[in-house]
Amino acid sequence: MNRGTHDARAPRGAAGLKGRIGGLLREWGSRWQPHEGDNFTLAYANSLSHRLPLLYIVVAFDLALTAIRFGNAAPAWLAAFGPMVLGGFALWRAVYWRPSAVRERSLTTLRRDLKAMSWVGAWAGFMFVLWGMLLYPYGDRDAQSFIHYSIAIAVFSGILGLGHAPLTALRIAVAMTIPSIGQILFSGHPNAIMVTLVQVVVTTLLLLVTNGHHRDFVRLELSRQQLVRRERDAARLAQNNLVQATIDPLTGALNRRAVLARVEAELAKASAAPSGQAGEPAWLSLIDLDGFKHVNDTYGHAAGDAVLAAVATRLAGFARITCFGRLGGDEFAALIDGALDEDGVCLLATEMSEALRAPVLHAGAVLRLSGSVGVHRLNGRSVSDCLERADAALYKAKEQSDGAVVVFSHEDEIALQDRAAITRQFNDSNLADSLKLLYQPIVEGQTGATSGFEAFVRWSPDGVRWLAPGQFLSLAEATGRTGELTRMIFARALRECKAWQYGRTLSINLSPRDVIRAGSVEALARIAEEAGAPAHAIILEVTERALLADPKRAEAQLRAFRAKGFRIALDDFGAGWSSLSQVHRLPLDMIKIDQELSRALGSEAGARTLVGTIISLAWQLGIDCTIEGVEDEAQAETARALGIRLMQGYHFGRPEPVESALAIMSQQAAPEAVELRA
Ligand code: C2E
Ligand code: CA
Ligand code: CA
Repeated sequence: MNRGTHDARAPRGAAGLKGRIGGLLREWGSRWQPHEGDNFTLAYANSLSHRLPLLYIVVAFDLALTAIRFGNAAPAWLAAFGPMVLGGFALWRAVYWRPSAVRERSLTTLRRDLKAMSWVGAWAGFMFVLWGMLLYPYGDRDAQSFIHYSIAIAVFSGILGLGHAPLTALRIAVAMTIPSIGQILFSGHPNAIMVTLVQVVVTTLLLLVTNGHHRDFVRLELSRQQLVRRERDAARLAQNNLVQATIDPLTGALNRRAVLARVEAELAKASAAPSGQAGEPAWLSLIDLDGFKHVNDTYGHAAGDAVLAAVATRLAGFARITCFGRLGGDEFAALIDGALDEDGVCLLATEMSEALRAPVLHAGAVLRLSGSVGVHRLNGRSVSDCLERADAALYKAKEQSDGAVVVFSHEDEIALQDRAAITRQFNDSNLADSLKLLYQPIVEGQTGATSGFEAFVRWSPDGVRWLAPGQFLSLAEATGRTGELTRMIFARALRECKAWQYGRTLSINLSPRDVIRAGSVEALARIAEEAGAPAHAIILEVTERALLADPKRAEAQLRAFRAKGFRIALDDFGAGWSSLSQVHRLPLDMIKIDQELSRALGSEAGARTLVGTIISLAWQLGIDCTIEGVEDEAQAETARALGIRLMQGYHFGRPEPVESALAIMSQQAAPEAVELRA
């Protein structure tokens, strides 16, 4: 739209008057055309509707007075023509332009009306003057003056009334002023010159004034519309930002922030509703893909992305999922309709997990994975508490099997609170005062002689209960206290159970982090030295898990431990992780066959074959073998038959306090086979 925009730098003051009038005429010629903008047309018509009716009423009144003035002098039909025809027309226009009617009119009609208005006005004005001129000869000087007076009034009020329509005002002014001036000049009226001057000057000034009004109106309207546009743009921008801030670009689902916000809103909704009216709160489910890393590593990231997008599409197909999104990586969260009971949600989660099993086709490859699901009903806690519970259920599901579904239960709640309490206590505890060590004998299978002891740690949160490592070692890992813990255990074991003085070995377990951590070799070697323990009497037990994270570094560290004289045992061998092919590369002194495997020895032929293979492998590599978890004579017998030399388990002795270990060592002579090789 914008021929209506006016140059704010238009010349000002007397020097600019000429330019101003020129500009004014140009403006009048090229000024706003109604069709140039819908909003502008509406604003314009609305403004006129508040002025035009009044203007037409003034004109009708004017006509009526003039007719009365000439009532007796002029022919009745001529006197009546003004008010009857012209006045009637003016009143009809007044009614036509009333605001309530204009508001109802369509844009097309308004455009037509506005276009017509300037000519209609000019013609009506001209008719007024023509009528006045026809009446003129019938009146005396006073009556004739009245005609000029009433025409001038009509012109002035026309210009003022059409302040927002300068072109119309100009046309009316020309159509009325020129004929009426011509008339007065030719009539020889004594005031002809004065009246002409007044009419011309006042008309011109009024036109200038109304043009100023019009310009202000246009400017005001334009800036108002600009403001509206800006507000709209700002709203659109805000909407865009909102989308960007809440959508995960990869899947088009909600992102972590948005999902958590929804969970928060659900919790707030539940707590704000009067009790009993809230309905059941929604279920929060966490979905973790099993095998996603494999897809990413094998087929590339594009394939991984395709899988994530497919997961989002499939989750979107569940009507009972009220909202879902990606929390990050391959973890999704979905809120499920609270109206479902536990069985219902379990069924739905199973269907979700089933849906995720369907293969994803990507670039000619068939990608298969599954999703484990943990579910928890949102229940008045904080978002992080609810997430923690759904996560605990998910963790349990992942432990069960790929694609399993677990709903967080009351027992899980108790376990979680227990764990939370233990975590707090562990964080606050002075480890030195709350640890103790138990020692389990490792015996010669053939003779039953004790060849050494393995130390097991116990921790007490309160001095009453003693917890097994499975319950607190992960806390040490999570709080970064494994190093501190291992050094403490190591030093205490060497201080209280000096097995080497009795010709025995002492086995100590290392956490995976101890194997990897820089400086741990030197730290343990120093402790052994301070305790006066020969390193070769100490067996460090490491699990394969420790080697998985960074096999090269782990291998180098094991070599460093060995270089200090320590012996290395590979713990829990045969418990899932084992890879026989790795063993020959590792610097090992001993393999410890896992308890599970030794338990299966009695019943499963496969287990016997596997153990047989492990033993022959160990022989070939010149590595010693220990079997763990031997609980009865039958197992011991099988192990003996397979040729395993060292055995450990409840059948030979439980983990006991150090006094028991010391008693055994001082009573029994050291078995010959355990002579400590330096
Ligand atoms: P592990 O090194 O394989 O230890 C054997 C576990 O089996 C010990 O449990 C032991 O008490 C138990 N056990 C021994 N003989 C038998 C048996 O005949 N039958 C059965 N059912 N169990 C038997 P514990 O003490 O709970 O230790 C569990 C795991 O915690 C250990 O497995 C070891 O990996 C770790 N751990 C124990 N003490 C320490 C430690 O001081 N430091 C580190 N880093 N880890 C330790
Ligand atoms: Ca061990
Ligand atoms: Ca073990």
